[in-house]
Amino acid sequence: MKTAQVMKKKLIDYEPFAEKRLVERIHELSRNLRGLRVLHINATSFGGGVAEILHTLIPLMKDCGLKVDWKVIDAPSTFFDLSKRMHNALQGKEDSLSDEDKRLFESVEEENARFIEPDEYDIVVIHDPQPVGLPAFADFGNCKLVWRSHIDTSSPNQTFWNYLNLFLSHYDAGIFTLKSYAKDGILIDKIYEIPPSIDPLSNKNRELSDAEMEQALKKLGIGKEEPVITQVSRFDPWKDPMGVVDAYRQLKRKFVDLKLLLIGSMASDDPEGWKIYEDLLRYVGMDYDVKVLSNFQGIGDIEVNAAQRVSKVVIQKSLREGFALTMSEAMWKKTPVVGGNVGGIPLQVHHGVNGYLVESVEETVECTRRILENPSLAEEMGAKGFEIVKKDFLITRHLYQYLQLFADLTE
Ligand code: UDP
Repeated sequence: MKTAQVMKKKLIDYEPFAEKRLVERIHELSRNLRGLRVLHINATSFGGGVAEILHTLIPLMKDCGLKVDWKVIDAPSTFFDLSKRMHNALQGKEDSLSDEDKRLFESVEEENARFIEPDEYDIVVIHDPQPVGLPAFADFGNCKLVWRSHIDTSSPNQTFWNYLNLFLSHYDAGIFTLKSYAKDGILIDKIYEIPPSIDPLSNKNRELSDAEMEQALKKLGIGKEEPVITQVSRFDPWKDPMGVVDAYRQLKRKFVDLKLLLIGSMASDDPEGWKIYEDLLRYVGMDYDVKVLSNFQGIGDIEVNAAQRVSKVVIQKSLREGFALTMSEAMWKKTPVVGGNVGGIPLQVHHGVNGYLVESVEETVECTRRILENPSLAEEMGAKGFEIVKKDFLITRHLYQYLQLFADLTE
C-alpha cells in the first residue's frame, strides 16, 4: 500500500457556507474526538468521486484534530480488470466469478494486508469493493472497521454479492449513499446512510476569475456565449456517453449551433476507460461540434469547473449510478441539470424544480430542449439547484455525519 498525500484545508474557511448550528455541532464532536487515529483505504488517489471526496474530507478531519492517514492499495492491472468487473456485477451486470478470480482477489488483499499493524488506528474506513477483503487477512487489533460503499448495490449480481458479503462480516459498520443499497441479508449490523458532498472551495467548484474562465474556455475550445451542453464522467458504460451523443444529435437538428462537451478522466483503477474512450471517438466521428476531452489533454479541475459554469445544461445520463457528484457540482454553479433517474441522482435532481430526471434518450432530448428554449426557466432552475446543494450536499454536512459515526463507534 502507498500513502496518498492531501493538501491542508481549514474548517473555518468552510464555515460561511454552513448553518451556524451545524458548525457548532462539528466543533462539539471534534472536541471529543481529538487525537482519534483514523485510516482511509481505497484503490486510487486520482479520478472518480471517491478520490475527489477524500481530498477534502481528510484535510478537514485533520483540522478537527483527528490523526488521519490515507492509503491506496497496490495491485497488478489484472486485479483492476477484475475489480471493475466486480463493480459492474455489483451494480447488476451479468458475469460469473471463477475460482481463479477469487484467488487473484484474495492474493491482492493478502499482499496489501501485510502493511497493517494491529491497533495502529482506532477506526479504519475501507472504501468500495477493491480493498473490502483486507480485514479477512490483516490483524487490525481492536480498531473499528467501516466499509464505505459508493456504488448502487440495490440489485446486484447475486454471486458477486454473496462473495462480497462474506467479507462484510468483518465490519462494525457500513456506510451507503442510500440505505436501500444495503441488501437484505447484509452481514454488517450497523448501516448508516450518508450521501456524498462537494467542496465549495476546491478548484472544481470555487468561483473563477474572468482570466481563469477565459483561459479554461480556450482549452475547452468553446466561446462564452455558445450554446453548450456537457457531460463530465469517467468513460464508463454506466454513464452512457453514447446515449448523450444520440440526444445531442437530435437536439442539433433544432439548435444548429449546439455544442457537446464530453469530459472524462482516466482513473488508474478503471481499465475500461480507454476502450470506451476510443469507441466514443469513433461514434462521434467527424462532428467537430462534439468535443471528447480528458485529463490527457490537460483538462483538469478548473476546466471542468468552467465547463459546468458555461453550459446551458449539464447532463448525467447514467443508467446506474452511486451518487453523481457531477450533478451537485453543476447545481452549485447554478446550471440546470438533466440526470438519469437512477441511484443518487434523484436525491439531487428534483424533477421540474432544478432540472429533470430522464429514463431514455427521447426524454433527455425533450427535457434538455425545454431548458435550452427557455432562459428564464433555466435561471430559475439554476437558482433552486444552488439552494439544494447549499442545504444538503456540501462537505460540512458530510464531515459532521462522519464525526457522528466515529463518536458512535468509539463510545
Ligand atoms: N471528474 C473530473 N474529470 C473528468 C471526469 C470526472 O474531474 O474528466 C470528476 C467529476 O467532476 C466528479 C468525479 O470525477 O467530481 C466523478 O464523481 P461521480 O460521483 O459523478 O462519479 P464516479 O466517477 O464516482 O462514478
